[in-house]
Amino acid sequence: MKSNQHTEYDSLVSEILVCTKCNLCQERTQAVPGEGSLQAKVMFVGEGPGKQEDLQGIPFCGASGKLLDLLLQSIELKREDVYITNIVKCRPPNNRDPFDNEKGTCSPYLNKQIEFIKPLIIATLGRHSMNFFLPELKISEVHGKPLRRKGQIYIPLYHPAVGLYRASMKEELLKDFQIIKKVIDKLEKEKTDHEYEQSTLKELFYEKEHSDR
Ligand code: URA
Repeated sequence: MKSNQHTEYDSLVSEILVCTKCNLCQERTQAVPGEGSLQAKVMFVGEGPGKQEDLQGIPFCGASGKLLDLLLQSIELKREDVYITNIVKCRPPNNRDPFDNEKGTCSPYLNKQIEFIKPLIIATLGRHSMNFFLPELKISEVHGKPLRRKGQIYIPLYHPAVGLYRASMKEELLKDFQIIKKVIDKLEKEKTDHEYEQSTLKELFYEKEHSDR
């Protein structure tokens, strides 16, 4: 990323921090723009900040975040290697689901983050995040299955919170994270679009008809 892009990214963060475009600003302690590498190959997108995130201003810094760190570790990645953010940047009161109008109002920030970082993979955390990008899909059917829309690769994942109290879901998450590694490794090996098209990566993808809309 060039330095003027850094400045633009910093301006975006500043804008998010003082945003009052929806009602979520009224009860927040602070907005949580996101953090990580601006060169990240993978961008993780959760739903919205929880209590700890609201207090500390850092995405996924509470209990779910601890599990996310562990999942990252399982594929030899650290927080600093990836970029982590949420669909809405301010905590919905009592951790309720964000309303559609809140998601819509906040979405230009996420779109700009995606534009800046240009991640190879957007890994959605939880059903709400997945459905923001891929409205018609069911998480139980597609978790851990990469798919491609308009050139962007998505890997839908369960939300780490579900792995906190259910060992079987934690196992599922660990398995699904391996797919992230597989896709990164394949893409690294097969850098050009042409080779990529020919690649066996396709075999990893969720049904062909979902992959190129
Ligand atoms: N859950 C989320 O979806 N995002 C966070 O940042 C923390 C918990």
